[in-house]
Amino acid sequence: MPKTMSINAGSSSLKWKLYEMPAEEVIASGIVERIGLNDSIFTIKYGDGEKFEQVLDIEDHAIAVELLLKQLIELSIIQDFNDISGVGHRVVAGGEIFQDSALVTEEVIQQIEDLSEFAPLHNPANATGIKAFREILPDITSVAVFDTSFHQTMPKVNYLYSIPMEYYEKYNARKYGAHGISHQYVSERAAEMLGRPLEELKIITCHLGNGASITAVDGGKSVDTSMGFTPLAGVTMGTRSGDIDASLLPFLMEKLGLNTIDEMIYILNNKSGLKGLSGVSSDMRDLEDVEDTNEKAAIALRIFANRVQKYIGSYIATMNGCDAIVFTAGIGENGVETRKEIIDGITTFGVELDDERNNVRGKERIISTDDSKVKVLLIPTDEEVMIAREVERFKNQK
Ligand code: ADP
Repeated sequence: MPKTMSINAGSSSLKWKLYEMPAEEVIASGIVERIGLNDSIFTIKYGDGEKFEQVLDIEDHAIAVELLLKQLIELSIIQDFNDISGVGHRVVAGGEIFQDSALVTEEVIQQIEDLSEFAPLHNPANATGIKAFREILPDITSVAVFDTSFHQTMPKVNYLYSIPMEYYEKYNARKYGAHGISHQYVSERAAEMLGRPLEELKIITCHLGNGASITAVDGGKSVDTSMGFTPLAGVTMGTRSGDIDASLLPFLMEKLGLNTIDEMIYILNNKSGLKGLSGVSSDMRDLEDVEDTNEKAAIALRIFANRVQKYIGSYIATMNGCDAIVFTAGIGENGVETRKEIIDGITTFGVELDDERNNVRGKERIISTDDSKVKVLLIPTDEEVMIAREVERFKNQK
Protein backbone atom coordinates (compact mmCIF):
# COMPACT_ATOMS: atom_id res chain seq x y z
CA MET A 1 0.00 0.00 0.00
CA PRO A 2 1.33 3.46 -0.85
CA LYS A 3 2.57 5.50 2.07
CA THR A 4 2.40 9.25 2.48
CA MET A 5 4.33 11.50 4.83
CA SER A 6 3.02 14.68 6.43
CA ILE A 7 5.80 17.10 7.31
CA ASN A 8 5.88 20.13 9.55
CA ALA A 9 9.36 21.61 9.38
CA GLY A 10 10.53 24.29 11.80
CA SER A 11 13.85 26.09 11.80
CA SER A 12 15.46 23.45 14.01
CA SER A 13 12.88 20.67 13.97
CA LEU A 14 11.08 18.30 11.68
CA LYS A 15 7.80 16.76 12.79
CA TRP A 16 6.39 13.97 10.67
CA LYS A 17 3.67 11.34 10.40
CA LEU A 18 3.65 8.40 8.03
CA TYR A 19 0.28 7.26 6.70
CA GLU A 20 -1.01 4.25 4.86
CA MET A 21 -3.24 5.90 2.29
CA PRO A 22 -6.05 6.09 1.41
CA ALA A 23 -6.86 4.22 4.63
CA GLU A 24 -5.48 7.20 6.63
CA GLU A 25 -3.85 4.79 9.03
CA VAL A 26 -0.89 6.21 10.99
CA ILE A 27 2.00 3.72 10.83
CA ALA A 28 4.66 5.82 12.45
CA SER A 29 5.29 9.34 13.65
CA GLY A 30 8.11 11.29 15.15
CA ILE A 31 10.19 14.36 15.48
CA VAL A 32 13.77 15.40 14.92
CA GLU A 33 14.66 18.24 17.29
CA ARG A 34 17.68 20.49 17.66
CA ILE A 35 18.72 20.16 14.01
CA GLY A 36 21.90 22.15 13.45
CA LEU A 37 22.71 22.16 17.18
CA ASN A 38 24.63 19.64 19.24
CA ASP A 39 22.82 16.60 20.57
CA SER A 40 19.93 16.53 18.12
CA ILE A 41 17.12 14.28 19.30
CA PHE A 42 15.65 11.78 16.94
CA THR A 43 12.39 10.05 17.95
CA ILE A 44 10.24 7.53 16.11
CA LYS A 45 7.00 6.07 17.46
CA TYR A 46 5.69 3.01 15.69
CA GLY A 47 4.02 -0.37 15.96
CA ASP A 48 2.33 -1.22 19.23
CA GLY A 49 3.52 1.73 21.29
CA GLU A 50 7.17 1.10 20.43
CA LYS A 51 9.62 3.96 20.50
CA PHE A 52 13.04 4.54 18.99
CA GLU A 53 15.14 7.37 20.34
CA GLN A 54 18.64 8.48 19.51
CA VAL A 55 20.74 11.50 20.38
CA LEU A 56 23.34 12.52 17.82
CA ASP A 57 24.55 15.61 16.00
CA ILE A 58 22.42 16.32 12.92
CA GLU A 59 23.85 19.12 10.83
CA ASP A 60 20.90 20.07 8.66
CA HIS A 61 17.43 19.08 7.46
CA ALA A 62 18.71 17.04 4.50
CA ILE A 63 20.77 14.86 6.83
CA ALA A 64 17.78 14.57 9.18
CA VAL A 65 15.60 13.32 6.31
CA GLU A 66 18.20 10.82 5.16
CA LEU A 67 18.70 9.46 8.67
CA LEU A 68 14.96 9.28 9.18
CA LEU A 69 14.29 7.30 6.00
CA LYS A 70 17.19 4.91 6.68
CA GLN A 71 15.94 4.34 10.21
CA LEU A 72 12.43 3.62 8.92
CA ILE A 73 13.97 0.84 6.80
CA GLU A 74 16.08 -0.38 9.72
CA LEU A 75 12.95 -0.66 11.87
CA SER A 76 11.12 -2.44 9.00
CA ILE A 77 8.51 0.31 8.90
CA ILE A 78 9.21 0.63 5.16
CA GLN A 79 11.10 -1.80 2.92
CA ASP A 80 12.87 0.84 0.84
CA PHE A 81 12.55 4.49 -0.20
CA ASN A 82 10.12 3.51 -2.98
CA ASP A 83 7.54 2.60 -0.35
CA ILE A 84 6.89 6.29 0.12
CA SER A 85 4.92 7.63 -2.79
CA GLY A 86 3.93 11.05 -1.51
CA VAL A 87 4.95 13.78 0.88
CA GLY A 88 2.98 16.83 2.02
CA HIS A 89 4.61 19.86 3.59
CA ARG A 90 2.91 22.36 5.81
CA VAL A 91 3.79 25.90 4.75
CA VAL A 92 2.80 28.83 6.92
CA ALA A 93 2.44 31.71 4.44
CA GLY A 94 1.09 31.32 0.92
CA GLY A 95 0.16 34.96 0.34
CA GLU A 96 -2.27 35.55 -2.50
CA ILE A 97 -0.29 33.29 -4.81
CA PHE A 98 -1.42 30.02 -3.30
CA GLN A 99 -5.20 29.81 -3.27
CA ASP A 100 -4.82 26.05 -3.04
CA SER A 101 -2.16 23.48 -2.18
CA ALA A 102 0.48 23.16 -4.89
CA LEU A 103 2.59 20.45 -6.46
CA VAL A 104 6.19 21.26 -5.53
CA THR A 105 8.39 22.57 -8.34
CA GLU A 106 11.52 24.71 -8.30
CA GLU A 107 9.28 27.70 -8.98
CA VAL A 108 6.99 26.86 -6.04
CA ILE A 109 9.99 26.58 -3.70
CA GLN A 110 11.21 29.95 -4.91
CA GLN A 111 7.77 31.48 -4.34
CA ILE A 112 7.64 30.07 -0.80
CA GLU A 113 11.04 31.61 -0.12
CA ASP A 114 9.94 34.90 -1.65
CA LEU A 115 6.95 34.94 0.73
CA SER A 116 9.31 34.88 3.72
CA GLU A 117 8.63 38.54 4.46
CA PHE A 118 5.13 37.44 5.51
CA ALA A 119 6.48 34.70 7.83
CA PRO A 120 10.17 35.30 8.47
CA LEU A 121 10.61 32.46 10.95
CA HIS A 122 8.49 29.85 9.24
CA ASN A 123 8.64 30.01 5.46
CA PRO A 124 12.43 29.60 5.14
CA ALA A 125 12.24 26.57 7.45
CA ASN A 126 9.32 25.12 5.50
CA ALA A 127 11.26 25.55 2.24
CA THR A 128 14.29 23.87 3.78
CA GLY A 129 12.17 20.84 4.68
CA ILE A 130 10.76 20.65 1.16
CA LYS A 131 14.22 20.81 -0.40
CA ALA A 132 15.58 18.17 1.95
CA PHE A 133 12.94 15.65 0.85
CA ARG A 134 13.27 16.64 -2.79
CA GLU A 135 16.97 15.85 -2.70
CA ILE A 136 16.44 12.34 -1.42
CA LEU A 137 13.06 11.47 -2.96
CA PRO A 138 13.02 13.53 -6.17
CA ASP A 139 10.35 11.55 -8.01
CA ILE A 140 7.51 11.23 -5.51
CA THR A 141 4.40 13.42 -5.40
CA SER A 142 5.41 16.36 -3.25
CA VAL A 143 2.74 18.86 -2.23
CA ALA A 144 2.95 22.16 -0.36
CA VAL A 145 -0.09 22.71 1.84
CA PHE A 146 -0.54 26.27 3.02
CA ASP A 147 -1.95 27.47 6.32
CA THR A 148 -3.39 30.50 4.53
CA SER A 149 -5.05 28.88 1.47
CA PHE A 150 -8.31 28.03 3.22
CA HIS A 151 -8.77 31.73 4.00
CA GLN A 152 -8.26 32.84 0.41
CA THR A 153 -12.05 32.62 -0.06
CA MET A 154 -12.55 35.61 2.27
CA PRO A 155 -14.31 38.47 0.51
CA LYS A 156 -12.55 41.82 0.10
CA VAL A 157 -14.90 43.36 2.67
CA ASN A 158 -13.34 41.12 5.30
CA TYR A 159 -9.71 40.90 4.22
CA LEU A 160 -9.01 44.55 3.48
CA TYR A 161 -7.83 46.86 6.24
CA SER A 162 -9.30 50.36 6.27
CA ILE A 163 -6.06 51.96 5.16
CA PRO A 164 -5.26 53.57 1.80
CA MET A 165 -6.21 51.06 -0.91
CA GLU A 166 -2.88 51.48 -2.68
CA TYR A 167 -1.11 49.69 0.18
CA TYR A 168 -3.06 46.59 -0.72
CA GLU A 169 -2.65 47.15 -4.45
CA LYS A 170 1.08 47.85 -4.28
CA TYR A 171 2.24 45.75 -1.33
CA ASN A 172 -0.45 43.11 -0.75
CA ALA A 173 -1.03 44.53 2.74
CA ARG A 174 -4.18 42.66 3.83
CA LYS A 175 -5.49 39.98 6.15
CA TYR A 176 -4.29 36.44 5.35
CA GLY A 177 -5.17 34.52 8.51
CA ALA A 178 -3.58 31.27 9.68
CA HIS A 179 -4.39 27.78 11.04
CA GLY A 180 -6.30 27.23 7.78
CA ILE A 181 -5.52 23.52 7.63
CA SER A 182 -7.02 23.06 11.10
CA HIS A 183 -10.09 25.23 10.47
CA GLN A 184 -10.77 23.33 7.26
CA TYR A 185 -10.36 19.93 8.92
CA VAL A 186 -12.68 20.64 11.86
CA SER A 187 -15.34 22.33 9.75
CA GLU A 188 -15.50 19.33 7.39
CA ARG A 189 -15.59 16.96 10.34
CA ALA A 190 -18.33 19.03 12.04
CA ALA A 191 -20.58 18.61 9.00
CA GLU A 192 -20.00 14.84 9.09
CA MET A 193 -20.77 14.69 12.82
CA LEU A 194 -23.93 16.74 12.36
CA GLY A 195 -24.93 14.60 9.37
CA ARG A 196 -25.58 17.68 7.25
CA PRO A 197 -24.02 18.96 4.02
CA LEU A 198 -21.19 21.37 4.70
CA GLU A 199 -22.54 23.65 1.96
CA GLU A 200 -25.63 24.36 4.08
CA LEU A 201 -23.84 25.14 7.33
CA LYS A 202 -22.62 28.30 9.01
CA ILE A 203 -19.86 27.23 11.40
CA ILE A 204 -17.59 29.18 13.74
CA THR A 205 -14.37 27.26 14.36
CA CYS A 206 -12.33 28.18 17.45
CA HIS A 207 -8.74 26.94 17.23
CA LEU A 208 -7.54 27.71 20.75
CA GLY A 209 -3.96 26.62 21.36
CA ASN A 210 -0.89 28.64 22.24
CA GLY A 211 -1.71 30.45 19.05
CA ALA A 212 -5.44 30.97 18.72
CA SER A 213 -7.74 31.97 15.91
CA ILE A 214 -11.45 32.00 15.20
CA THR A 215 -12.89 31.51 11.72
CA ALA A 216 -16.32 32.06 10.20
CA VAL A 217 -16.94 29.18 7.78
CA ASP A 218 -19.98 29.70 5.58
CA GLY A 219 -20.89 26.81 3.28
CA GLY A 220 -17.46 25.24 3.79
CA LYS A 221 -15.61 28.44 2.88
CA SER A 222 -13.70 30.73 5.21
CA VAL A 223 -15.37 34.15 5.04
CA ASP A 224 -13.50 35.80 7.91
CA THR A 225 -10.82 34.92 10.43
CA SER A 226 -9.37 36.59 13.48
CA MET A 227 -5.67 36.48 12.63
CA GLY A 228 -4.53 39.16 10.25
CA PHE A 229 -1.58 40.10 8.10
CA THR A 230 0.34 37.95 10.59
CA PRO A 231 -0.71 35.64 13.44
CA LEU A 232 -0.34 38.51 15.91
CA ALA A 233 -3.91 39.72 15.44
CA GLY A 234 -7.20 38.48 16.85
CA VAL A 235 -7.92 37.00 20.27
CA THR A 236 -5.64 36.99 23.31
CA MET A 237 -3.13 34.12 23.00
CA GLY A 238 -0.49 32.39 25.11
CA THR A 239 2.14 35.07 24.52
CA ARG A 240 0.58 37.23 21.75
CA SER A 241 -1.51 40.29 22.45
CA GLY A 242 -4.11 39.81 19.74
CA ASP A 243 -5.88 42.99 18.56
CA ILE A 244 -4.66 46.30 19.99
CA ASP A 245 -4.81 49.95 19.01
CA ALA A 246 -1.77 50.65 16.81
CA SER A 247 -1.29 54.04 18.52
CA LEU A 248 -0.21 52.19 21.63
CA LEU A 249 3.00 51.20 19.86
CA PRO A 250 4.76 54.60 19.62
CA PHE A 251 3.40 55.54 23.06
CA LEU A 252 4.88 52.44 24.70
CA MET A 253 8.09 52.61 22.69
CA GLU A 254 8.72 56.03 24.12
CA LYS A 255 7.88 54.99 27.68
CA LEU A 256 10.02 51.86 27.43
CA GLY A 257 12.89 53.58 25.63
CA LEU A 258 12.73 51.17 22.71
CA ASN A 259 14.59 52.19 19.58
CA THR A 260 13.16 49.86 17.02
CA ILE A 261 9.68 48.73 16.16
CA ASP A 262 11.02 45.16 16.06
CA GLU A 263 11.57 45.29 19.81
CA MET A 264 7.97 46.39 20.31
CA ILE A 265 6.60 43.70 18.01
CA TYR A 266 8.73 41.16 19.87
CA ILE A 267 6.99 42.15 23.11
CA LEU A 268 3.57 41.84 21.49
CA ASN A 269 4.44 38.41 20.09
CA ASN A 270 6.37 36.92 22.98
CA LYS A 271 5.69 38.73 26.22
CA SER A 272 2.02 39.55 26.00
CA GLY A 273 -1.23 37.57 26.03
CA LEU A 274 -1.89 35.26 28.98
CA LYS A 275 1.78 35.41 29.93
CA GLY A 276 2.01 39.19 29.93
CA LEU A 277 -1.29 39.75 31.70
CA SER A 278 -0.77 37.18 34.43
CA GLY A 279 2.96 37.41 34.91
CA VAL A 280 2.63 33.71 35.72
CA SER A 281 2.66 31.66 32.54
CA SER A 282 1.50 31.43 28.93
CA ASP A 283 0.00 28.03 29.74
CA MET A 284 -3.72 27.89 30.46
CA ARG A 285 -3.29 25.06 32.97
CA ASP A 286 -0.85 27.05 35.09
CA LEU A 287 -3.30 29.94 35.26
CA GLU A 288 -6.22 27.71 36.17
CA ASP A 289 -4.11 26.24 38.98
CA VAL A 290 -3.62 29.62 40.66
CA GLU A 291 -6.66 31.66 39.63
CA ASP A 292 -8.31 31.45 43.06
CA THR A 293 -5.38 33.15 44.72
CA ASN A 294 -3.85 35.17 41.92
CA GLU A 295 -5.93 38.07 40.67
CA LYS A 296 -3.82 38.68 37.58
CA ALA A 297 -4.10 35.06 36.50
CA ALA A 298 -7.86 35.27 37.01
CA ILE A 299 -8.21 38.42 34.91
CA ALA A 300 -6.07 36.88 32.15
CA LEU A 301 -8.48 33.94 31.99
CA ARG A 302 -11.52 36.26 31.91
CA ILE A 303 -9.95 38.30 29.09
CA PHE A 304 -9.20 35.17 27.08
CA ALA A 305 -12.83 34.01 27.24
CA ASN A 306 -14.11 37.53 26.61
CA ARG A 307 -12.12 37.96 23.38
CA VAL A 308 -13.30 34.61 22.03
CA GLN A 309 -16.90 35.56 22.85
CA LYS A 310 -16.52 38.86 21.02
CA TYR A 311 -15.28 37.13 17.88
CA ILE A 312 -18.04 34.54 18.02
CA GLY A 313 -20.61 37.32 18.34
CA SER A 314 -19.11 39.27 15.50
CA TYR A 315 -19.00 36.21 13.22
CA ILE A 316 -22.63 35.40 13.94
CA ALA A 317 -23.29 38.90 12.63
CA THR A 318 -20.92 38.44 9.67
CA MET A 319 -22.67 35.24 8.56
CA ASN A 320 -26.09 36.42 9.74
CA GLY A 321 -26.50 33.13 11.58
CA CYS A 322 -24.65 30.18 13.02
CA ASP A 323 -25.43 26.46 13.10
CA ALA A 324 -22.42 25.27 15.03
CA ILE A 325 -19.47 26.39 17.12
CA VAL A 326 -16.43 24.10 17.10
CA PHE A 327 -13.67 23.99 19.71
CA THR A 328 -10.27 22.56 18.84
CA ALA A 329 -6.51 22.64 19.70
CA GLY A 330 -4.98 22.43 23.22
CA ILE A 331 -7.36 24.75 25.07
CA GLY A 332 -10.35 24.08 22.82
CA GLU A 333 -9.98 20.33 23.24
CA ASN A 334 -9.07 20.21 26.93
CA GLY A 335 -10.24 23.43 28.53
CA VAL A 336 -13.51 22.28 30.09
CA GLU A 337 -13.83 25.45 32.20
CA THR A 338 -12.88 27.78 29.36
CA ARG A 339 -15.44 26.26 26.99
CA LYS A 340 -18.07 26.62 29.70
CA GLU A 341 -17.17 30.21 30.45
CA ILE A 342 -17.28 31.14 26.75
CA ILE A 343 -20.60 29.47 25.92
CA ASP A 344 -22.42 30.27 29.18
CA GLY A 345 -21.84 33.96 28.46
CA ILE A 346 -23.42 33.97 24.98
CA THR A 347 -26.64 31.98 25.51
CA THR A 348 -28.58 34.88 23.97
CA PHE A 349 -27.54 33.46 20.58
CA GLY A 350 -29.52 30.27 21.22
CA VAL A 351 -26.56 28.19 22.31
CA GLU A 352 -26.55 26.03 25.41
CA LEU A 353 -23.81 23.78 26.73
CA ASP A 354 -24.60 20.42 28.32
CA ASP A 355 -22.27 20.46 31.34
CA GLU A 356 -22.02 16.71 31.53
CA ARG A 357 -21.20 16.28 27.84
CA ASN A 358 -18.73 19.16 28.14
CA ASN A 359 -16.86 17.39 30.91
CA VAL A 360 -14.48 15.64 28.54
CA ARG A 361 -10.99 16.24 27.18
CA GLY A 362 -9.66 15.50 23.73
CA LYS A 363 -12.59 13.44 22.44
CA GLU A 364 -14.82 14.10 19.48
CA ARG A 365 -18.25 14.92 20.81
CA ILE A 366 -21.29 17.20 20.49
CA ILE A 367 -21.32 19.06 23.80
CA SER A 368 -24.44 21.24 23.49
CA THR A 369 -27.87 20.29 24.83
CA ASP A 370 -30.34 18.59 22.49
CA ASP A 371 -32.43 21.79 22.50
CA SER A 372 -29.52 24.10 21.70
CA LYS A 373 -30.29 25.88 18.41
CA VAL A 374 -26.57 26.34 17.79
CA LYS A 375 -24.68 23.07 18.21
CA VAL A 376 -21.34 23.06 20.02
CA LEU A 377 -18.75 20.48 19.02
CA LEU A 378 -15.43 19.37 20.44
CA ILE A 379 -13.24 18.10 17.60
CA PRO A 380 -9.55 17.28 18.11
CA THR A 381 -7.78 18.81 15.14
CA ASP A 382 -5.72 16.69 12.76
CA GLU A 383 -3.66 18.88 10.48
CA GLU A 384 -1.42 15.97 9.50
CA VAL A 385 -4.22 13.87 8.02
CA MET A 386 -5.51 16.92 6.16
CA ILE A 387 -2.03 17.31 4.60
CA ALA A 388 -1.94 13.61 3.68
CA ARG A 389 -5.37 13.97 2.06
CA GLU A 390 -4.11 16.87 -0.01
CA VAL A 391 -1.24 14.69 -1.26
CA GLU A 392 -3.79 12.00 -2.22
CA ARG A 393 -5.84 14.55 -4.12
CA PHE A 394 -2.81 15.54 -6.20
CA LYS A 395 -1.74 11.93 -6.74
CA ASN A 396 -5.18 11.17 -8.15
CA GLN A 397 -4.95 14.15 -10.48
CA LYS A 398 -1.67 12.95 -11.97
P1 ADP B 1 0.24 24.97 20.07
O1 ADP B 1 -0.40 26.20 19.49
O2 ADP B 1 1.61 25.23 20.64
O3 ADP B 1 0.15 23.74 19.19
P2 ADP B 1 -1.60 23.54 21.77
O4 ADP B 1 -2.68 23.36 20.76
O5 ADP B 1 -0.84 22.36 22.20
O6 ADP B 1 -0.62 24.70 21.36
O7 ADP B 1 -2.28 24.22 23.06
C1 ADP B 1 -1.55 24.54 24.18
C2 ADP B 1 -2.52 25.13 25.22
O8 ADP B 1 -3.48 24.13 25.58
C3 ADP B 1 -1.83 25.56 26.51
O9 ADP B 1 -2.33 26.82 26.93
C4 ADP B 1 -2.27 24.49 27.49
O10 ADP B 1 -2.35 24.99 28.80
C5 ADP B 1 -3.65 24.16 26.97
N1 ADP B 1 -4.11 22.90 27.57
C6 ADP B 1 -3.61 21.67 27.37
N2 ADP B 1 -4.23 20.78 28.19
C7 ADP B 1 -5.13 21.49 28.93
C8 ADP B 1 -6.06 21.16 29.96
N3 ADP B 1 -6.18 19.92 30.39
N4 ADP B 1 -6.82 22.16 30.47
C9 ADP B 1 -6.70 23.43 30.02
N5 ADP B 1 -5.84 23.80 29.07
C10 ADP B 1 -5.06 22.85 28.52
